[in-house]
Amino acid sequence: MSAAEKLTPMMQQYFEVKRGLPANTLLLFRLGDFYEMFFEDAEIGARLLGITLTKRQETPMAGIPHHAADNYVTKLLAAGKKVAICDQAEPAQSGKLVKRQLTRILSPGTTLSANQLDAAKNHYLCALSLDKAGLHAAWLDLSTGEFRIATDAHPENLLPVLTALDPAELVLIEGDLGRWQAAPHEQHAVHALHQFCAPRLCSELPGYHFEVTGGAKTVMDALGVLNLQGFGLANGHPALGAAGAVVYYATENLCAKPQNLRSLQEYRSTRTLLLDPATLRNLEIFSSTRGTRDASLLGAIDRSTTAAGSRLLERWLAAPTLDLPEIVRRQTVVGELIAQPSDLAGLRELLNKVRDIPRILGRLQNRLRNPRELGGVKDTLAQIPAIMACLDLLDAHLVGTHGGETSKVRARLTDLPKLRELLAGGLADELPNDLADGNYIRAGYDAELDRLRSLTTDNKSWLAELERAEQERTGIKSLKVRYTSVFGYYIEVTKANLANVPADYIRKQTTVSGERYVTEALKLKEKEIFSAEEKSLARELELFNELVAAVLDESMTLSRTADALAELDVLAGWAVLAREWDYCRPQLDEGELLSITDGRHPVVEQMMKQERLGLAGSYTFVPNDTALSADDAQILLITGPNMAGKSTYIRQVALIALLAQIGCWVPAKACRLGLVDRIFSRVGASDDLARGNSTFMVEMNETANILNNTTDRSLIILDEIGRGTSTYDGLSIAWAVVEHLHRSAERGPRTLFATHYQELTQLAKHLPRLKNYSVAVKEWNDDIVFVRRVVEGAADRSYGIQVARLAGLPLSVIDRAKTILTQLESEDVSVTLPSPQARPKKKITVAPADDSQLNLL
Ligand code: ADP
Ligand code: MG
Repeated sequence: MSAAEKLTPMMQQYFEVKRGLPANTLLLFRLGDFYEMFFEDAEIGARLLGITLTKRQETPMAGIPHHAADNYVTKLLAAGKKVAICDQAEPAQSGKLVKRQLTRILSPGTTLSANQLDAAKNHYLCALSLDKAGLHAAWLDLSTGEFRIATDAHPENLLPVLTALDPAELVLIEGDLGRWQAAPHEQHAVHALHQFCAPRLCSELPGYHFEVTGGAKTVMDALGVLNLQGFGLANGHPALGAAGAVVYYATENLCAKPQNLRSLQEYRSTRTLLLDPATLRNLEIFSSTRGTRDASLLGAIDRSTTAAGSRLLERWLAAPTLDLPEIVRRQTVVGELIAQPSDLAGLRELLNKVRDIPRILGRLQNRLRNPRELGGVKDTLAQIPAIMACLDLLDAHLVGTHGGETSKVRARLTDLPKLRELLAGGLADELPNDLADGNYIRAGYDAELDRLRSLTTDNKSWLAELERAEQERTGIKSLKVRYTSVFGYYIEVTKANLANVPADYIRKQTTVSGERYVTEALKLKEKEIFSAEEKSLARELELFNELVAAVLDESMTLSRTADALAELDVLAGWAVLAREWDYCRPQLDEGELLSITDGRHPVVEQMMKQERLGLAGSYTFVPNDTALSADDAQILLITGPNMAGKSTYIRQVALIALLAQIGCWVPAKACRLGLVDRIFSRVGASDDLARGNSTFMVEMNETANILNNTTDRSLIILDEIGRGTSTYDGLSIAWAVVEHLHRSAERGPRTLFATHYQELTQLAKHLPRLKNYSVAVKEWNDDIVFVRRVVEGAADRSYGIQVARLAGLPLSVIDRAKTILTQLESEDVSVTLPSPQARPKKKITVAPADDSQLNLL
């Protein structure tokens, strides 16, 4: 501002606040009933919100009504902006500049508003820093208080869980993003890190906010502890710098210390099954290739009835545990619930009424309070005794048959009868969203409030009486006593009756239809009414704050109970899923087997049924068996024509293994699984349409990542690897990759490799642990019928031309293709495979159409 001296005091106040804000932040400045944006903020805000841009004394302005602010803010955050809220800190007085202060800064990673949070998704703010010791990360879900740190010498080991958790906002050291982008090409890990960060909202802080010593202090202060030993962490843990940065950033945005941080846990990649970003995408774990949750694995297995349950399931899937007893425990609970269908149904009905306690507590603790939130605690507490009774009943029914694992979850629930009764007695049945609306405290709960309210009621009947008396006195039947928030109480007389208005009426306002008056008596009464209402609201607020304090006193117990409820919800959901789709309980051990009888693809089978609904006939997903073992049938090479079902089959095996490892039952008749430490899934480039030109490079990068990071405990799903380049290149690469996976003498990672390269099937001659399988088709005249059956042995032909015909290619093209094929076959250009050390050499020479690869689809 060049002419600062010309600024009004209010605008000076505005600029003072504005100056302290980070970049990319719009300031919403409270003026009366509106939040106003000024200058550039007004222009940006008006455009993003579709509201009017006005000008006052050359100053661009755009305003939103304060009661609708939440909705508007939601849009601004969705557009990648941050929003600073500046409120009036005292009641307005005419002629005096109102004090204003920054209330909070809302950003995608720090908002707590239910409107701006996806109920079923965790919502993380994540800080990252990279140094010689490796990648340091800290992630915090401010809405629930979940807080974790991790350090790993290899960023590739941390990016899987971070990708899966999909943070809403990142906090980085100033300039890091650019440095990572500019790293030398061979530093793949740094580039992967950059790829992870670049598309997300990144907020930058000076490097000193990431220092470990200061970070440890900040973190201990936020947690209210003197050291971190209680969480099993050294005070010098290298990720505490990132943790400090997260807490600092959250504190800045809340304009107060976060009040709901209670624990800090360390994430260790060695304790979880790793699913790297490409695998998450290829196996469609959290979202389908079309971007929907419904058609993803998560969507298919989430039968939770509570938001906290869905979020817990997301966390379990993001970091599947390698802890066998824990997996078995979950399976057992599911089994116990399956065994007692009527108790299960009862439990689900009760859980359905449980509200989102973790987020409600987060809001109550961080000064976002409204009566409905408190009502959520009340409703939830009301269910606890019934839930406990239901679980006791289940336990009684189970006696002598199972292990009673469910009753251990039951033991983590705490009934809070005192608090339950306090809330039931104190809160009204119908609760408003806004404290200013009043009437949320139950009548009869507090004598003083009842007295103030009766004053208001008395006054209301006084007004009715006044209306009747004045109608009689003036003879004006249409005379009305009315109220508006701007004018207060007044008497309204229509135009036709103005002649009969008595002399003691004082005119206040003329409207189109008549005149508005007050009388001395009405003015006095108005004062009385306002003061009674004000006092009654103030008393209500006092009582509300007492109730909130009572809830927060029990916050530890409440959140422990909420955690147990979320877990019950997920497991009960799985029990329902398992019953509905006939899942079996997989048998897990530390061995190296993966055997599946009659396995199905958990998502495809559900989709098929959905598509079939309303049509005649039943769904027809064909189940298939799988037998893999690290030291015998280590690599299954699956051949078969396009559309036969190869991709579906190999993915279903990976998904069944993953489901087994999060403790869920699986879509199969029987399943045995030796724990898997990593699942890798890669798709040949031409299946990957969405990702631009360098797809082959991506394919190779990803393949390299597998070969470098796999262990003998891993499970690898390769789909048409090598397809992204010319036949001979691709075949050679595929060939070498398979050899590499088979390299050690005794064992190797369990691998499923789907390919249309017939030639690869000859590898079985050289590699004893490679087995050929194919997806069978039936030939019928010149047509083929897909039977979706996986059988032992290599496919004898690739049937590309038949598939092309099914796809509707013009007959002339089909005929020409047949001619070329005959020619090729007569010239015997089928590749003779080299011994494992050599490369395929033979060249195809066919004229005149050179693009004669048989993979027409
Ligand atoms: P490929 O990889 O061999 O080209 P896909 O796995 O893509 O074949 O499957 C082709 C189609 O067949 C898909 O639409 C899929 O839904 C269907 N399909 C695959 N496996 C089965 C199965 N076991 N039962 C029923 N339909 C299947
Ligand atoms: Mg395929």
